[in-house]
Amino acid sequence: MTTRDPNETKSWRPATTLVHGGTTRSQFGETSETLYLTQGFVYEDAEFAERRFNGEAPGFVYSRYANPTVAMFEDRMKMLEGAEAARATASGMAAVNLAIMSSVKAGDHVVAAKALFGSCRYIVETLLPRFSVESTLVDGTDLDQWKAAVKPNTTALFLESPTNPTLEIIDIAAVAEIAHSVGARLIVDNVFATPMFQSPLKLGADVVVYSATKHIDGQGRCLGGVVLSDEKWITEEVMPFVKHTGPHMSPFSAWVLLKGLETLPLRVAQQTSSAAKIADHLAGQSAVSRLIYPGRDDHPQAEIAKRQMTGGSTMLAFEIAAGKEAAFRFLNALEIIKISNNLGDAKSLITHPATTTHQSIGAEAQAELGISGGLLRLSVGLEDAQDLIEDIETALKAI
Ligand SMILES: *Cc1c(COP(=O)(O)O)cnc(C)c1O
Repeated sequence: MTTRDPNETKSWRPATTLVHGGTTRSQFGETSETLYLTQGFVYEDAEFAERRFNGEAPGFVYSRYANPTVAMFEDRMKMLEGAEAARATASGMAAVNLAIMSSVKAGDHVVAAKALFGSCRYIVETLLPRFSVESTLVDGTDLDQWKAAVKPNTTALFLESPTNPTLEIIDIAAVAEIAHSVGARLIVDNVFATPMFQSPLKLGADVVVYSATKHIDGQGRCLGGVVLSDEKWITEEVMPFVKHTGPHMSPFSAWVLLKGLETLPLRVAQQTSSAAKIADHLAGQSAVSRLIYPGRDDHPQAEIAKRQMTGGSTMLAFEIAAGKEAAFRFLNALEIIKISNNLGDAKSLITHPATTTHQSIGAEAQAELGISGGLLRLSVGLEDAQDLIEDIETALKAI
């Protein structure tokens, strides 16, 4: 197998990196990335095995630690993100858990924005306190709340931007500064922005996590996640956690996700262009009382969006004025757009957060996050934008 130093090609622009970055080839010189479905590796002699294990002969020893196909995915992601190191995981939640668990010990404190993906909120709010890690939830858009929440024992700040499902934008550079003022690490879940539109590490964040399940696959096939950060922390904290607890990505998923990365810029650009058209269309509808789209000037944090994102979003949120029953009638009348809680897919997917993704947080937390009975979250896919607009038109009439 030939290997290439991923740093060698750092000057590539994203689209090139996403096709070629991190690729290694076997003795056969295959065009496409090789799928190394193997658990272990064999050594020519006992002496070589000894050198492999003591690090004198670098290479693979077991797929829970590292695997050549997974390594290609990690290298490609790290080149795209401009990170020193990356670890791929079985799912986005495994990546979030890995990033947080590698940042805390009993007695530490974590601050997170309230508007979090449900399972992320569970880790921060429910799981961490079981291990004597205290947590504080703040309104992520209010910098004073972040400032007031950090303490000398705060070791991690955690946020998503844009948030799920109301697409609020949090000022990443400002929160990074607050984190660093107490020596804490800022972890950013960058799923909604995608790596095409936002680079948290360049804005001052210390760690970026993705659910690769979303736009990176983008075609509904497999789960995956990745944690990206500096070499020292990944080597000293993240690697041992993966090695000894086993949340690693399967080689098969890594292979699917490598194929997904090749078309990521094209898909995200097309989906975003359609999302912008749909947002503009919905903005003029009397049945719609609220429209939230990060690419529009009427977004509540439009200024920050312009500063830290290079594009709008494949996602939009809107509120059916007449409430839950009307929103359900709208959903049930859609033909092309499917009812599903997933996002970032080639197929347009719509969800009613109050009764699905955010059902478990309860009415009070829903109200706090602006999740009303009429709120819908739409992930725009690769269908023709005009067909999607006509589908929405028909469904609005059914209200
Ligand atoms: C989906 C998602 C996750 C979890 O990812 P899985 O791959 O489903 O485990 C985490 N954060 C955000 C923002 C997500 O959208």
